[in-house]
Amino acid sequence: MTVFEPSSVVRRSDVPMYLVENLRDAVRPGSRDTIGGRPILPAGEDWPECYCGARMVLFFQLDVPPDIPHFGGDHLLVFQCPVHNDAPCLPGSPQRLPDRYWESPRVSGHPGAFWRIMLHRDPTGPADAEEPHLLGYELVLRPEYETETVWRAVPPAPHGMFAELGTGRGEFKVGGLPCWLQDPETRRCACGAEMLFLCEITGDTSFARRPGQPEQPDTYDSDCYVIFLGNEVYLLACPEHCHPAAVWPVLQH
Ligand SMILES: [Zn+2]
Ligand SMILES: [Zn+2]
Repeated sequence: MTVFEPSSVVRRSDVPMYLVENLRDAVRPGSRDTIGGRPILPAGEDWPECYCGARMVLFFQLDVPPDIPHFGGDHLLVFQCPVHNDAPCLPGSPQRLPDRYWESPRVSGHPGAFWRIMLHRDPTGPADAEEPHLLGYELVLRPEYETETVWRAVPPAPHGMFAELGTGRGEFKVGGLPCWLQDPETRRCACGAEMLFLCEITGDTSFARRPGQPEQPDTYDSDCYVIFLGNEVYLLACPEHCHPAAVWPVLQH
């Protein structure tokens, strides 16, 4: 069995990265960087609904800082059904995602998508309605240095085998380098573009439930909601912006 050991840590001043922090300030009117709150939706998109008919929960939204390559200036929104809390797994884990994977992804155990993740730069404003399930908080995006830890196989892996792994900081963050908990993963968008890492949501990220709202199924804390069962989530997005929802969540744990 191959064992990996950290061999070096490099400060990557060439890779812009922002930590996403919740300082427990209540969401303010008109805010664009929020947990819960009022979603700033793409033009022509309604508040997303799950295939089951439930209106999805706005977990968070934020403006991607301008210096993040390919996605700077985009607005990111992450929704998931309040009832369907699961891991989106495509049978066979295809490298190239199927057509309209954001709507009819044929994930195991579900007839359609129970989440929706969107990126856009439309001049829209906040929706009239506020996310009811979660306590609304301001998010702060704080610029930080990314560090890359290089892990090498011990003993060295045979030629052709996975021998080296570079990972960024394991934080809730936008931009930077993914902190893979398992082997690195890539996906190709249905449009043909190689998808790029945009955001990591650490597995311990929880979102406070508003008192009186139903508990989320399959969560580990009855006072909180989690995304995708609380796995480590890596959002890979289409740099061609071929559709507002052309974002795929890769999960590891
Ligand atoms: Zn649902
Ligand atoms: Zn695409």
